[in-house]
Amino acid sequence: MAILTQIYESIHTVNIWQLFAWGSAVKRIVISAGACLLLVAVAVFLLGDRLLMTVVQKQVERNLSGQVLNTLPDGLHLLLCGSGAPLADPERAGPCIMVLAGNDLYVVDIGSGAARNFGLMGIPPGRIEGLFLTHFHSDHFDGLGELMTVRWAGGARTEPLPVYGPSGVEQVVQGYNLAYRQDVEHRIAHHGEAVVPRSGAGGLAKPFTRPGEAEAVEVLNHHGLTVTAFAVPHEPVQEAVGYRFDYKGRSLVISGDTSASENLQLFSEDVDLLAHEALAPEIVEILGRAAANVGMPNIHRITEDILSYHTTPVQAAEIAEQAGVRHLLFYHLIPPLPVKPLEWLFVRGVSDAYSGKYTLGRDGTLISLPEGSDEISVRELL
Ligand SMILES: [Zn+2]
Ligand SMILES: [Zn+2]
Repeated sequence: MAILTQIYESIHTVNIWQLFAWGSAVKRIVISAGACLLLVAVAVFLLGDRLLMTVVQKQVERNLSGQVLNTLPDGLHLLLCGSGAPLADPERAGPCIMVLAGNDLYVVDIGSGAARNFGLMGIPPGRIEGLFLTHFHSDHFDGLGELMTVRWAGGARTEPLPVYGPSGVEQVVQGYNLAYRQDVEHRIAHHGEAVVPRSGAGGLAKPFTRPGEAEAVEVLNHHGLTVTAFAVPHEPVQEAVGYRFDYKGRSLVISGDTSASENLQLFSEDVDLLAHEALAPEIVEILGRAAANVGMPNIHRITEDILSYHTTPVQAAEIAEQAGVRHLLFYHLIPPLPVKPLEWLFVRGVSDAYSGKYTLGRDGTLISLPEGSDEISVRELL
């Protein structure tokens, strides 16, 4: 009997201790978790600003260092810095295309707001080696002052921005240089010439004679990149050109503003990529009718006039098909497309006219043509 009592008591005692031990473990876990949460809360409270700033700083470092460009393979790359046109559009800056050939970065046209996309896309403007203007409608160069400034100040450049264009580019560059002269002096006085060298301010015009039909003029030949210009019809503008870039077996053509052009088709033969402007008449007509209905006859008139010197998406698709273009990019989209269904309307009929792949450009579209391959890859940076 005494033995049985001892066994019972020992079991009972053990159970009590085990329960106590379990209770302690749960308590310890709860207390530890609570302490951790409290510590995290205190850390976030005390270090929240610092954590936020660290995250933001990392992103800024990524953008400033041009990581996007540095990770691209050798080849020809098109970065769309402005896919829109003159009409206000919160999603699209004015026309602007960057071309990276190897390590050299160039810009074709610089529409309003486009220079601000450089920062958003992680492109250091200090790396820009030159600008090509397609013609002198203001929507294609109204960001020039901003481009000259951010390239100069952002890269401590010691030589002005070369601005290539048909005859008349001298006036545009001279005008901007004059308009920005006081700003240049203010910035040199503030930051010093080591930061903003006087010799690097502004632009330097590089005019060329617009070639005739079926002729091309070589505008640049550098580090394996050849840039040629050819005439496009954009009457009453006489000095309108498109550009073709060739680098290590890859090629792309940029239309600038043009009505449907056989000459452009000729110089786009078998290119990897054609970036073509486009105007959708049905959607522009909606704008025109709306303007007429609210008593704005001048806007109504402009919407009628512009139909004659641009290309419809289907016409651009037909040109791409005839030329054997491998990928078609629509940019300089007229009018703005604020809702998705309008994008569908914009490209209606394109697939019937063109058997290749096409992209409706957005600010931040990147199309890569790596050298030594047939690859064409498309991605969005924004
Ligand atoms: Zn134009
Ligand atoms: Zn334009």
